Amino acid sequence: MCFNYLKKESTDLDIDSIRSISRISRSLWGEYEKSLLMCSDTLTSVGLLKLDDEETLERTTKALVERAEKNPPRLLSLQHPFFRLAPIERFLLTALHLERWSYARISRVLGVEVRLIAPWAWATRMKLCFQEASHGADLEYPKGPTSLGPACPEYDISEPWTQRLLDDECGKRERLFLQGHLMACGSCRKSLQISRKMIFKVESLIPVKEAAPETETAAGELARIWQEGESSYRPLKTTFKQSMNSYLNRTSVQYALFILIGAIFILFKRSL
Ligand SMILES: [Zn+2]
Repeated sequence: MCFNYLKKESTDLDIDSIRSISRISRSLWGEYEKSLLMCSDTLTSVGLLKLDDEETLERTTKALVERAEKNPPRLLSLQHPFFRLAPIERFLLTALHLERWSYARISRVLGVEVRLIAPWAWATRMKLCFQEASHGADLEYPKGPTSLGPACPEYDISEPWTQRLLDDECGKRERLFLQGHLMACGSCRKSLQISRKMIFKVESLIPVKEAAPETETAAGELARIWQEGESSYRPLKTTFKQSMNSYLNRTSVQYALFILIGAIFILFKRSL
């Protein structure tokens, strides 16, 4: 009996997914060595499931968050406001601010309903700015327009439209309506400006940076581990030059080339 239909053949893992996994792990564990160990270990295990790219990314992230929640790292620098948040909250902010993940993907990773993400994201952002960080003093508290005009959108204090717009989570109709309304309404423009400042502040408080050299080194190391472990059936998406280098470095290819060059040399000598 053949079970080949259970396998997905030749699926690739994008280098951007590797970078995301590496950064999320760093946000969860803080320390370079520990976070690299945790994400390479988790990614290797998930790689054995032979899932597609998106499923591998989501399953690995889910496992990392669960591991960090189960055994929260103790040696984090607790002086830093970001690391005083729970691991799952650090994941949420990293996914939103560094990875620009949609609410839908975050909800799939965490196995919760997508409608819960917006209020949770707002509460976590407010917590970081106004409870954990002392920097909240120079920020205006986002609370919506003092008086709503007849055409103003409803401002829900637990999940305001300003956050939805800034996270690019509005539907097409809502976005068009808000864009038009903001042109005409100074109070709503002011609300958006206050929310934007708060969201920028959150981003500045995340110590893991998108393109930091250390992050890139970790992603490179993770990519190397992934390629060495799974390259026979899970090649990493690489450039043509990288693919050729890897192809030419294989012993069997080098041996075949050696024989080919030898054969050409003999033919060349005979024709003289
Ligand atoms: Zn308005």
